[in-house]
Amino acid sequence: MFRRLRHLAAALLIVSAGAFLWQAASTPRVDGLSIPEHVAYIASDLRGANDAYCMMRLEKLDAAYTPAPFTTPSVCGNEFAVRASRIGGAKLKNAPLMSCSLAETVAEWEQDVLQPAALEHLGKRVRRIQHLGTYNCRKIRGSARFMSQHAYANAIDVSGFVLDDGARVSVERDWAREDAKGRFLRALKQPTCDAFNVTLTPDKDALHKNHFHLDVGLWRSCK
Ligand SMILES: [Zn+2]
Repeated sequence: MFRRLRHLAAALLIVSAGAFLWQAASTPRVDGLSIPEHVAYIASDLRGANDAYCMMRLEKLDAAYTPAPFTTPSVCGNEFAVRASRIGGAKLKNAPLMSCSLAETVAEWEQDVLQPAALEHLGKRVRRIQHLGTYNCRKIRGSARFMSQHAYANAIDVSGFVLDDGARVSVERDWAREDAKGRFLRALKQPTCDAFNVTLTPDKDALHKNHFHLDVGLWRSCK
């Protein structure tokens, strides 16, 4: 009887060790972190529990927004989303869908990073943030398994800026230039990395030659 139990216990041990190893092997490793996909999804909006506090922060940061929670039949969507048409002094075309945490982070970045850098390098304030989109129900480009943070409205692709005097700064045209606009864009990189969890610039690859991908997902990357 005891021998049978011992065999059963040994078998259970082997099965659970195997399950653990399988789980460990199937989780993504990003910058030394190992995160199961479902945890990454659930945690993707932890910062943005779209409670009254996040909305209050948006008010304080002078954002023009309306709550816009949305769900989909798939994993995409965000029940803590807003549509923001203006963040501080900068307008956003089409009032894009953003998780409240994304909107809050963009608002802090606009105030603490974007406007001071524009004043320092270009002597002007930014009146419009140009973007290629926020919400898009899709996987990470090149990944068969993992959803992009765009799928949760947790990411924005910023393609350029319009300044107070109407001058335009384009990530695609100006990033590599040795002039004030190029220096402004490149000077944004490090403080932008500090503000967002993931910041991908034209330094990353050709897929990002015309925009900054900024997201507030769980992973961290600065390229
Ligand atoms: Zn993106």
